[in-house]
Amino acid sequence: MLRNDQLAEWDRENFFHPSTHLAQFARGEQCNRVIRGGEGVYIEDRDGTRMLDAFAGLYCVNIGYGRQEVAEAIAEQARELAYYHAYVGHSTEASITLSKMILDRAPANMSKVYFGLSGSDANETNIKLVWYYNNVLGRPEKKKIISRWRGYHGSGLMTGSLTGLELFHKKFDLPLEQVIHTDAPYYFRRQNLEQTEAQFVESCVASLEELIEQEGADTIAAFIGEPVLGTGGIVPPPTGYWEAIQAVLKKHDILLIADEVVTGFGRLGSMFGSDHYGIEPDIITIAKGLTSAYAPLSGSIVSKNVWKVLELGTDEFGPIGHGWTYSAHPIGAAAGVANLRLIDQFDLVTNAKDTGAYFNATLKEALSDLPIVGDVRGEGILAAVEFVRDKDTRQFFDASEKVGPQIAAALLQRSKVIGRAMPQGDILGFAPPLCLSRQEADLIVGAARDAISDVAENLL
Ligand code: PLP
Repeated sequence: MLRNDQLAEWDRENFFHPSTHLAQFARGEQCNRVIRGGEGVYIEDRDGTRMLDAFAGLYCVNIGYGRQEVAEAIAEQARELAYYHAYVGHSTEASITLSKMILDRAPANMSKVYFGLSGSDANETNIKLVWYYNNVLGRPEKKKIISRWRGYHGSGLMTGSLTGLELFHKKFDLPLEQVIHTDAPYYFRRQNLEQTEAQFVESCVASLEELIEQEGADTIAAFIGEPVLGTGGIVPPPTGYWEAIQAVLKKHDILLIADEVVTGFGRLGSMFGSDHYGIEPDIITIAKGLTSAYAPLSGSIVSKNVWKVLELGTDEFGPIGHGWTYSAHPIGAAAGVANLRLIDQFDLVTNAKDTGAYFNATLKEALSDLPIVGDVRGEGILAAVEFVRDKDTRQFFDASEKVGPQIAAALLQRSKVIGRAMPQGDILGFAPPLCLSRQEADLIVGAARDAISDVAENLL
């Protein structure tokens, strides 16, 4: 076995890490952490430090770590047939079974699932499908995509453009011109503090209407949104938001893409966020929870309406010119089948609902009185704590103070609990595996209170 210092050196010398301060890492100013194992909600690093992963990796290890059933399914698939492609009508038992399992669980009016490997590539697929759809329908001008500021949809060229976070645009020449952004449904950060939640929803709807008016509805193909804003701050939508937004989209014949990469397969305590909020999407993006990240796999679930047009298109223009070598990879599909079976077997969606409600209530109760806690919010087994310098005036900290990252670091250092400092704003996010127990929830809450109190002492 390699020594830790040897690994650290090779890591700095050879490994290009995503979403990392490259220069600091290469200079050794940022510690590396080599993870070697995990079980349930815990992971362990090479030094033997055991940590409670209250963010399930990147909100993806929904069934928890170390499930042998999925490992076995992957191994069996690899032994039998590690790979075959899905082009021109080929498939495997695993990919067919998984398609059926997904459709059996999906919201009404869904028709087929296209498989990719990541949330980003699934959203790239979705935008291509939307463009194809409008070309087949003879509407070549109807191509722009509306996304929300603070939405997160990936970090490719198109998907990085859809993502409404500055970090993902800056110096990358993004967003592309086909993407336009509208308001985030983020009530806590509303401009006008006097606004009620209902008034705030009205203002979100009004600015969407205004944008559509300004660009012309006949130039806008689709609206993409996460049922609950994720990486942009973990923000459940204000009451009535989705209903009002969908009415506008319907009026202007704009397709709706529900990006359920985080919310799909139970995170909100419902199988899909669309069902949770009464969203009727034309396309749904899935990834993360589809395999609980035991193997890379994503999907685009297309509705009956969209599918009909895609079929029409291929009758007119020939086979669809879209596919990846690894679409519907058998190992990913086998992992997906085993994962969805475990979600059913352990009733993890119900646990996400019940333990999630307990976790959110306990978190609110334990943290709300702390002087720098401005907001505690969440839905299902997803939660966030947002920090402010002054609660009465809702004055935020300066980004340079790095309050969110400091608190996440204190949480790990003091209590060996992993939360995530969300990338924009001082927000500590939690998205534990769906198998979390109440005792583990208590542990996270206690640790969060300690970490916040510690950091606050040095700030105010
Ligand atoms: N969509 C949402 C809502 C996400 O949260 C993410 C990743 O966090 C993505 C898309 C992109 O997925 P991936 O990182 O697998 O490309």
